[in-house]
Amino acid sequence: MRNMALVRYIRNVTWARKRILHNNYSPRILTKRTAVTNTEPTKPTAVSIGDAVRAEFPVGEEVCGFVVRTVEEVKELHLTAVRLEHLATGADYLHVARDDANNVFSVGFRTTPMDSTGVPHILEHTVLCGSRKYPCRDPFFKMLNRSLSTFMNAMTGSDFTIYPFSTQHPADFKNLMSVYLDAVFRPNLVELDFLQEGWRLEHQDVNDQSSPLVFKGVVFNEMKGVFADSQRLFMQKLQNGLLPSHTYGVVSGGDPITIPQLTWEQLRHFHAYHYHPSNAHFFTYGDQPLAQHLKFINDNYLSSFDRIDPKTEVPEEPSWSQGRSDHVECGVDPMAAAAGGEGGQTSVAVAYKLVNITDSYENFVLHILCELLTSGPNAPFYKSLLEPQLGSGFSPSAGYDGHTRNTSFTIGLQGVRPQDVDQVLSIIDNTFQQVAQEGFPQSRVDAVLHTLELGLKHQTSSFGLALAMTITPLWNLDGDPVEALKINSKINKFRKCLDENPKYLQEKVRQYFLQNNHKYSLTMAPKPGYEEQLQVAEEDLLAQKVSALNEHDKIQIWEQGQTLAHKQEEEEDLSSLPTLRVSDINRTVSPTPVLDLQLAGGVNVQLCQPPTNGITYFSAVLDTQHVPPHLRPLVPLLCGVLTSMGAGHMDFRELDQQADLVTGGLHVDTHTAAHPYHVGHFDQGIVLSSHCLNHNLDHMLDLWSRVFTEVRLNDLDRFTTLVNMIATDLSNSLVYSGHRYAMTSAAASISHMSALQEEWCGLSWLRSMKSLSQKKDLSDTLEQLRQLAALLLNREGMRVAVNTTPDYHTQALSKLESFLSGLHATTTSSATHNNFSSTPVKEEFTLHTRKTHHVFPFPVNFASMALPGVPYLHPDVGALRVLPRLMFRFLHREIREKGGAYGGGAMATPGGPFCFYSYRDPHSTQTLATFSDAVEWVLAGNFSERDVEEAKLGTFQSIDAPVSPGAQGMRRFLAGITDKYFSEHRQLALDTSPQDLITVARTYLSLAPIQGTSLIGPHNEDIAKDGFWNTVHD
Ligand SMILES: [Zn+2]
Repeated sequence: MRNMALVRYIRNVTWARKRILHNNYSPRILTKRTAVTNTEPTKPTAVSIGDAVRAEFPVGEEVCGFVVRTVEEVKELHLTAVRLEHLATGADYLHVARDDANNVFSVGFRTTPMDSTGVPHILEHTVLCGSRKYPCRDPFFKMLNRSLSTFMNAMTGSDFTIYPFSTQHPADFKNLMSVYLDAVFRPNLVELDFLQEGWRLEHQDVNDQSSPLVFKGVVFNEMKGVFADSQRLFMQKLQNGLLPSHTYGVVSGGDPITIPQLTWEQLRHFHAYHYHPSNAHFFTYGDQPLAQHLKFINDNYLSSFDRIDPKTEVPEEPSWSQGRSDHVECGVDPMAAAAGGEGGQTSVAVAYKLVNITDSYENFVLHILCELLTSGPNAPFYKSLLEPQLGSGFSPSAGYDGHTRNTSFTIGLQGVRPQDVDQVLSIIDNTFQQVAQEGFPQSRVDAVLHTLELGLKHQTSSFGLALAMTITPLWNLDGDPVEALKINSKINKFRKCLDENPKYLQEKVRQYFLQNNHKYSLTMAPKPGYEEQLQVAEEDLLAQKVSALNEHDKIQIWEQGQTLAHKQEEEEDLSSLPTLRVSDINRTVSPTPVLDLQLAGGVNVQLCQPPTNGITYFSAVLDTQHVPPHLRPLVPLLCGVLTSMGAGHMDFRELDQQADLVTGGLHVDTHTAAHPYHVGHFDQGIVLSSHCLNHNLDHMLDLWSRVFTEVRLNDLDRFTTLVNMIATDLSNSLVYSGHRYAMTSAAASISHMSALQEEWCGLSWLRSMKSLSQKKDLSDTLEQLRQLAALLLNREGMRVAVNTTPDYHTQALSKLESFLSGLHATTTSSATHNNFSSTPVKEEFTLHTRKTHHVFPFPVNFASMALPGVPYLHPDVGALRVLPRLMFRFLHREIREKGGAYGGGAMATPGGPFCFYSYRDPHSTQTLATFSDAVEWVLAGNFSERDVEEAKLGTFQSIDAPVSPGAQGMRRFLAGITDKYFSEHRQLALDTSPQDLITVARTYLSLAPIQGTSLIGPHNEDIAKDGFWNTVHD
């Protein structure tokens, strides 16, 4: 969580993870859809976009039913913000004009449920099932393939529901805005959609009237999956407990056992009051003209509404006169890193109610204060809680949460032994006492402010979207969203307060923590049989519901199941939906300005000069081909600890401090990339990356230089702490990223590169970290890491990429030259300066068919099947790349709509395998059969030219996802994909014909000689009896 809270303030990188939030769309969309460069808005234009909007929208002017309330420039973010109010309905509108082609639209509503039926969440799903103008089933999903959007999603938070999208195409923007607005203001909300998305009673086998009745429904299953993650359970309970009196006291996403209380009528009523313009916030961003947005929204939607009082005010939480505490139970986590030995699976945290979210400056100060308290090895809570190894990591929710009416701060530990809980609680108290006494060193405050300022300059690829997400919680609760963006004035005020009163922050600690009686302590411990207990509760509820049915009801349920099944099968008429065409996709690729050089006696350096806003980005790949097999599994661990152990005269605290003062962090990760055209060949290594303001480049390279030549891999205590933290993070990621683990595992037997990925970032890595975290003495491991570091940390086998501003590149290169010259040049290994012009060595690896069941006590499954694919420039790659998008139609219907899983689909990584997957899936082997059915469905050719066109559009959303200045040229640097190769690859995808799709489906999927299958999920009788499966228990 280091540096996250502050960075989130402007960039929101961990937004979805930190909060209690339910995204509607499948992980496919959530993962690889960050897109679109935010071109640095410094191009000299005759009239700046801000001036133009200022001239056109003077304060007080009436435009298309709206009146202009304020127009303000925020210089540090290069934007001009226009706030308007819709006269008839009171709808609130914010337009952010900025020279950025990646335009954003969002409409949001304050949704304040007072029970845990999940009504806002189910409504979010159901409005996307068809509307007046777009009466087809799920127009939202259909639009995914009729658009070149860079982001489309819908999200339910604790007190809001928002519908954002972004795209670079003006026509696409109009199309999507129309579909979004129709969905939220004119949804059909038919009962069958409620039953499908929310909950229903239905025969287990919908075609067998004698099969038992069970609960089904997308959200019902989704929420069972969500709360199978004990982290999420803890976060939910903590919020409910700290802010119990109003809407934060309930589960907005839905508590599975309460969801079946919701009726269709209640859903419609909730819609009428909450999805009303008088309760709406409209947001637009980018370089498109505001006037046309206003006209469209007013003429087509708002003009037909009157003003209502939606009664969605969220009051402040009344303050308590004394603290409260509670305990919850959860499932046993077999992957939990047992830091404290036996029984170390308890989580304990204390949450403090803080200020009203609308107090913008105080919020800012609390962000910084909480960052100082928790982030990085110099933070007091890091020292007092993490380092004594009383637990395996900070508790879920730890850190500042500025998203609710009253903001909050949570601190605690997970992986604690029950007998240590009281000690943890007293450490928390003592740490606050100590900070109130001693304060923070000035250098730490400077480091946190530096991170914030660097974050303002660092251009992300989805700035507008991050902006929309950042302002939503505050704006939703009637705070001033523009005021919140003025970071510089807050930084100045903050510095002034500190100058005037050196004890400023200490007083805040006293006020908000030591003298705050509104605090809530929560413990959570696993209970054997917890899942069974939930199961029994569900069965009891089911029995109760079923016993209340009369014969007539039963017939109705049977018929309703049939109707729903038929409706799901129906071919739909999508002619009402707008669409882009493949001809809207550019045939040409704009060139990346890169230059190849050799420095310091032969290190290959790629120089790229995009407009980086005064920042230099550095990356280096160190080849690992020569690492002996016994050390190779340790490569990801070396990555995990390399910049966290200290170097040279700096211990780990000092190194971290320096990194925060001059860089955006020193990052190290594993690297694999398939060769563009040699089958089975791939590049492997570790990749180092960091960025800094140009004038800090010397300092940044000096830090890397220390890491290369003097890394301190000798502090066993520190190392043990890090191992436990890594093991905990990995363990926590399993429920969230189960489909990724399943795919990696499935692919490991059919591709050599995937086998390495399994070792470095799959379940094998997770398991090896778990076992390391249980070892009493890690000195052997540390010794091996020293050997590995000695092999890797030199300039042999190294290549470097630098992205910097054109006027700085000469200086940057000379600094780089002296940095490289100072590194060790000799090694006993056979490594050579690597790049993709030389073919990486191909090792012996026997591909084979394998089926693996990883048994975990989850109530849902993650299934995957993997088949060998082709390289990036293979003639069949285009069709294989488009195929998953075509199959998505089939897979989505079978796995999500009928099967009740949260998501499912296929993915083709060029050079890597072709993978099918399902996500939070109630089915197991049945889904594997569905994967095969998807292949048959393609072979039968029951799809149209139009379907292929849509699949291509969908594919190009990811192929053409533009990149931020810091990431330009990285495709070439990391994977050897030049502009020429990229262009050829795009042509292959663009020129794919329907027949090509059938041919590759036959060649690579139907007739594949080998395949890998993997299932992550609970014990499974069928599989246990099947001799072809390997079963792995933890
Ligand atoms: Zn959902």
